[in-house]
Amino acid sequence: AKKEGRGRISYFDDALGERLRELAELEAELTAAIEREEIEPYFQPIVQIADRKLVGFEVLARWHHDRLGNVPPDRFIQLAEETGQIAAISWQILRKACIAARDWDPSLTIAFNLSAKQFRDADLSPRIEAILRETGFPAERLEIEITETAIIDDIDRAHEVIDQLRWQGIQISLDDFGTGFSSLATLSRLPFDRLKIDSSFVTTVSQDRQKAKIVAGIISLAGSLDLSVTAEGIETEDTLEMLAGLQCPLGQGYLFDRPMPRDKVDDLLSHGVTW
Ligand code: C2E
Ligand code: CA
Ligand code: CA
Ligand code: CA
Repeated sequence: AKKEGRGRISYFDDALGERLRELAELEAELTAAIEREEIEPYFQPIVQIADRKLVGFEVLARWHHDRLGNVPPDRFIQLAEETGQIAAISWQILRKACIAARDWDPSLTIAFNLSAKQFRDADLSPRIEAILRETGFPAERLEIEITETAIIDDIDRAHEVIDQLRWQGIQISLDDFGTGFSSLATLSRLPFDRLKIDSSFVTTVSQDRQKAKIVAGIISLAGSLDLSVTAEGIETEDTLEMLAGLQCPLGQGYLFDRPMPRDKVDDLLSHGVTW
């Protein structure tokens, strides 16, 4: 029995060791990728539901590594938050996205994700202002998406940052709405422009009456608070029709398009932009 126990411990030791080695390797690769500017912005269309017209794109980070293949953002963003590399990655992506988008139709916006960690960065707002100035991208065409986690940490700090960003003319969206804790209390205290309803409510809304009620409630609540709404994770025509019936202003999801590189956006824009 003792022998078995020791074996088990060393098995777990090995598994843990393996996991740590993997993380250390990924961190080193990420450092190299940042140096070579290999992390790219992809763009996913955001569509006005009533007329199915393109209004803008969400910017999503993509990292293709020669040997590791495509590393999903859920993996490297979280690691980058822990190692402090998130700022470097973020500013590279924002700069590239602004440079791409400044050539597009001036009515098109880009929505950029910020991590909770970045909200503690004292020069967050000046940093964004500098990138906008340097790239010549107008603040009015930029939206920042933040999650409730960023706010819950320190609501006064969040308020301050949101005010600074809005002062520049940037719009603020509350991302993944419905998955956090604070919801209504947070909402009413902070000056958001938009809510993004999490895909966990949206994707199956046409088959699930409970979810349909929640989504309807969120849309009407947002309306009464003068907030715009984007439904995320629209995958089927049924879902889109249901959201149209609920007068949801904006939508995003695989039904329209997946996130795509800049070249494909240029193609899309040259072929017309209604779904
Ligand atoms: P998110 O901000 O909630 O982004 C939406 C995610 O849903 C994206 O995953 C997108 O590809 C995916 N998605 C879009 N339409 C559909 C659909 O119809 N069905 C389904 N099942 N999924 C859909 P992605 O690109 O893998 O990103 C995952 C998360 O990683 C993001 O969630 C965001 O939290 C984070 N992330 C991505 N890029 C960045 C970045 O540049 N900075 C920061 N801080 N976080 C980022
Ligand atoms: Ca987002
Ligand atoms: Ca989201
Ligand atoms: Ca998410």
